Amino acid sequence: SQSKEKLAQFLESGLYKFEDSNVFVDPVRVLNRSYNHFRVSPSSYYTRFFEPQPSNQDHRLSSTSRKRKRKQNVKEPRALNERERIAEQRHREARSFLLKAHVSLQKSTGLLDVLSNLRNDPSFSAGYGFSTLPVVQQSFVELGQVWQAPLYEITLNVPLRGQTNEDKDGIEQRILPAFNNLIANETTDDVEAEFLNNHYLIPRESCFYMSDVGQIHNMVPADADSGFNLIVVDPPWENASAHQKSRYATLPNRYFLSLPIMQLTHTEGALVALWVTNREKLRGFVERELFPAWGVSYASTFYWLKVKANGSLISDLDLFHHRPYEILILGYSCGKATNSGRQSNFRPIKDNYVIMSIPGDYSRKPPIADLLMEYVPGVRPARCIELFAREMITGCVSWGNEPLHFQDSRFFLRR
Ligand code: SAM
Repeated sequence: SQSKEKLAQFLESGLYKFEDSNVFVDPVRVLNRSYNHFRVSPSSYYTRFFEPQPSNQDHRLSSTSRKRKRKQNVKEPRALNERERIAEQRHREARSFLLKAHVSLQKSTGLLDVLSNLRNDPSFSAGYGFSTLPVVQQSFVELGQVWQAPLYEITLNVPLRGQTNEDKDGIEQRILPAFNNLIANETTDDVEAEFLNNHYLIPRESCFYMSDVGQIHNMVPADADSGFNLIVVDPPWENASAHQKSRYATLPNRYFLSLPIMQLTHTEGALVALWVTNREKLRGFVERELFPAWGVSYASTFYWLKVKANGSLISDLDLFHHRPYEILILGYSCGKATNSGRQSNFRPIKDNYVIMSIPGDYSRKPPIADLLMEYVPGVRPARCIELFAREMITGCVSWGNEPLHFQDSRFFLRR
């Protein structure tokens, strides 16, 4: 019955907590809590692991031949260099609790049943909710770079107080510059926005600022009392190898050194959560250069373990260049306050916590604000900002050069 209760909680919240406090996250259910009249279409979120049912045998054949090809590419074992040895050492340490977390997932048959049923969601056969929209996705990154960028406008269809979204008469249209501008939905309802003939959903009580990193200082609050106490950062790290080309522009590490983390921090301090890909070079850079430059003190390391809908890992745990996990490094920022006594008020964070989920689109991370809330110092509701965001969530400011990317209405269904 305890597992029944957990399952009920999972269906409601999207979070399934295991005994050892590891957790399984269904991002679709978590994101759905930000909308009143819409829900995220599971088929558009889980594009990689819920491809449309194969209509014939070809599909299977092609996927196995792809696998075979990848195996052939694996190089002969050779001696590891110094950095690779450190990486291997860290991996060996992580391995045991990653496996333990995975075993508890595999034992949760109720949860696995729900996951295998995701495919039966009506959205898999019914197509998208907004079928009339163009299929091409907006390239905000390109539009933001042209000289006309300041002229682009976004129209917000804001429901008037006491009116519902369906009532067309009760809507006020607000036309605002789309780039380099803080755009907020302060209402308690979803707002539909129009931008160059595409539709976007702005969750209640959320805002976004779409700009290049060069304008990020505009996010710094006038006074630290209105700063942020949860800062999530998912930088466009450069890739290790040229052939592993990224789907978005990346930035050299030195750009991240000057992110104004200290100036964004609330007077009562902030929890900083930084996504890092599985490269030893980056982990060393964060520990030795980036966190010190930001004035952030290291607190803990979490792992994001990626699984398929059947609960198996997306790749072999020991594949050197295709690890099925990524890293979330946590630290505390005191902000500009000279009062270093504050640091002792920050809660210590358990190490080696494992977050499991089925990954979405390329590089898309599971929403983690809820999971981190118990460690966030200071005011409630928490003041959250996500840097390099591609989506929006209630109660959070999304900054990046494409924060509306996953807000395209094609990713949603009407409830
Ligand atoms: N956290 C996101 C998610 O879960 O979908 C993924 C973020 S992705 C790792 C990095 C983002 O940084 C991309 O959206 C990319 O377009 C953006 N980016 C790259 N260069 C940038 C720049 N110069 N200024 C602002 N954003 C930039």
